Amino acid sequence: VIQIKDITRDFPLGQETVKVLKGIDLNIKKGDYVALMGPSGSGKSTLMNLLGCLDTPTSGSYILSGKDVSKLSDDELAEIRNKEIGFVFQTFNLLPRTTALDNVALPMIYAGKSKSEREIRAAEVLKNVGLGDRMDHKPNQLSGGQRQRVAVGRALVNHPSIILADEPTGNLDSKTSVEIMNLFDAIHASGNTVILVTHEEEIATHAHRIIRLRDGVIESDERNR
Ligand code: ATP
Ligand code: MG
Repeated sequence: VIQIKDITRDFPLGQETVKVLKGIDLNIKKGDYVALMGPSGSGKSTLMNLLGCLDTPTSGSYILSGKDVSKLSDDELAEIRNKEIGFVFQTFNLLPRTTALDNVALPMIYAGKSKSEREIRAAEVLKNVGLGDRMDHKPNQLSGGQRQRVAVGRALVNHPSIILADEPTGNLDSKTSVEIMNLFDAIHASGNTVILVTHEEEIATHAHRIIRLRDGVIESDERNR
């Protein structure tokens, strides 16, 4: 589903240019389960943002589900993002004054679903992530692990084929991290392509493929088990 050829990403910084990604080639097949690792500053989040169509490359090509993403307009990118990709952030990025149900339902507003359809689907997804009894709680009435479950639910709600997660367990203790990883295992088992960033080897062992980034290039790309 993902074909990346010689992608670079530069950021202008004052008079200078910071070269963050320096030529990445990457193919990811439907149903892959990938952990992206590497030192702080190696470009993991920059690459994830490109994969998730939150950003576009400076050069190189990115084919996502057969479409050349680098040639699309902002509107077309937004549509792909909403349809094909679910993104989970380290810091959850939930709306603070909004219930779990409405946080999960939010992406369906952009997808043009009716209110009743949104509520039925959001409730179903919350049950699937183990929060059937927390639908009306606001983020500050939930634990960290529960907030991340809401964020995962929101990422799944539009039936995306690819789930991207940038350090989804970065703010969780080890027991809660394992629970969230079991959720990602289940998401992968149900047929999704899963790509997640982690700096913990333990977390990475859940994936079937481990890619290590160093200083903007891929250092290694290996099957795990
Ligand atoms: P971490 O493990 O700490 O999250 P990372 O591998 O995710 O690190 P990135 O966030 O991708 O690293 O950043 C890689 C490099 O790119 C860093 O040196 C960072 O300073 C630089 N960078 C990222 N975004 C920008 C930007 N918008 N402008 C300038 N430099 C940037
Ligand atoms: Mg990062």
